[in-house]
Amino acid sequence: VISGVQVVGLDGDDTLWHSEGRYHQAQQRFSEIVARHGEVADLDQRLLAVEQRNLGLFGYGVKGFTLSMIETAIEVTNGGIEAAEVKALIDLGRGMLEEPVVLVDGAAAAVKRLAAAGYRLLLLTKGDLFDQEYRIAQSGLAPHFWQVEVVSEKDPATYRRVLGRLGVVAAEFLMCGNSMRSDVLPVLEIGAAAVHVPYHLTWSHEVAGPPPPGARFAEIAALSDLPALLQ
Ligand SMILES: [Mg+2]
Repeated sequence: VISGVQVVGLDGDDTLWHSEGRYHQAQQRFSEIVARHGEVADLDQRLLAVEQRNLGLFGYGVKGFTLSMIETAIEVTNGGIEAAEVKALIDLGRGMLEEPVVLVDGAAAAVKRLAAAGYRLLLLTKGDLFDQEYRIAQSGLAPHFWQVEVVSEKDPATYRRVLGRLGVVAAEFLMCGNSMRSDVLPVLEIGAAAVHVPYHLTWSHEVAGPPPPGARFAEIAALSDLPALLQ
């Protein structure tokens, strides 16, 4: 049980709604397109390296991922990738943005229970602004949230800034999400509580070590376990 919480922060992608699956599928398709030019044994690592190199300029989300796929394809084919194939990669990105929002099982019920219990809910998500706004609207969950924030990075400075602007003290804040790197560690660092709810697919970039001992931290199997943890 984690006590003293007034404001509950919830992550969007792979916490409230499914997201990583669309990246996973696009990456499979990407491998097939690139493979026409010859086998690249470490293609996943090459793409990840390009994505990470570009994060500081493009930020998180589908648009940056699409550009990184194109850049990687040019690199690993030594410029052999054809215009029609580049078009196919752009279409992959467009398809990802157009994919309908599917909520994670039990997420809607958990959000409603938390709101009904009197917690102020803060939706805190990162990625392309348009894509995230579309997902928030399509999720149907927005009316249950006190505040919705789309941020470009989830680091201690971002959490401090958002909480400071909303007048929330760290001791009364709990964040719950699927990423140790984005939803747990920076939140513990600013003195708030964090709950990890793992998702079956995790982008390598979001994997991080366990929280320090003694932190106000818990891991739950599903979002539906969160309300009970707070009472
Ligand atoms: Mg997430």
